[in-house]
Amino acid sequence: MAVVGVLALQGSFHEHIAALRKLGVNGVEIRKPEQLLNVNSLIIPGGESTAMAKLAEYHNLFPALREFVQLGKPVWGTCAGLIFLANKAAGQKIGGQELVGGLDCTVHRNFFGSQIQSFETELSVPELASKEGGPETFRGIFIRAPAIIEAGPDVQVLADYPVRSNRLSTADSPTEDKKENVEEESKVIVAVRQGNIMGTAFHPELTADTRWHSYFLKMANVSGEEASSSLVPAEAS
Ligand code: GLN
Repeated sequence: MAVVGVLALQGSFHEHIAALRKLGVNGVEIRKPEQLLNVNSLIIPGGESTAMAKLAEYHNLFPALREFVQLGKPVWGTCAGLIFLANKAAGQKIGGQELVGGLDCTVHRNFFGSQIQSFETELSVPELASKEGGPETFRGIFIRAPAIIEAGPDVQVLADYPVRSNRLSTADSPTEDKKENVEEESKVIVAVRQGNIMGTAFHPELTADTRWHSYFLKMANVSGEEASSSLVPAEAS
């Protein structure tokens, strides 16, 4: 059976392993640097990136993770995993945290707010549409989710999400008392790929839809027993 490593320090690694199993692939739990030698691709799950970084530091995993990424082995980070893979993280209250890096992006760690601001939404992801005319929409689950606020030229945007912000405008009325509140819409990036690295700000592992896992397996050149029926969506949970 084909294998994919899943970083199993903290967070939703069981859910990733279950999604891989559905596709006929064995998800191998990775907790120590030497275990990375047994796998050719890796998923870094969602969870809490500071806690995950502390555990990774404790197990001396950062050098091995960096080497894994730099060797061009396929790596996918979901949510906290995306934060791990970014070259830069913003939006931390105190200090910073160690990152694996590799993805030419700046992520805002808690862009969408705290736990109670978690949400689900339909995302448009053209890469997930099947040749048979399967949908390109995907139900994204965002939990204390990050967003990519800057991306380098080699980063392919797989999905973005509209956000509204307010600013005070004095453009038409320059006097202090006539400032107007202007609502602006912009987009933040929530799924990317850069060569061997993929990142999603949301949690595909918490849905029954395995298309992101299939996409990653294709990218990693891993063929599971059922991965050939790849981009056909399963019933949403
Ligand atoms: N924002 C969280 C962090 O900083 C990530 C949340 C998640 O993985 N669901 O780690």
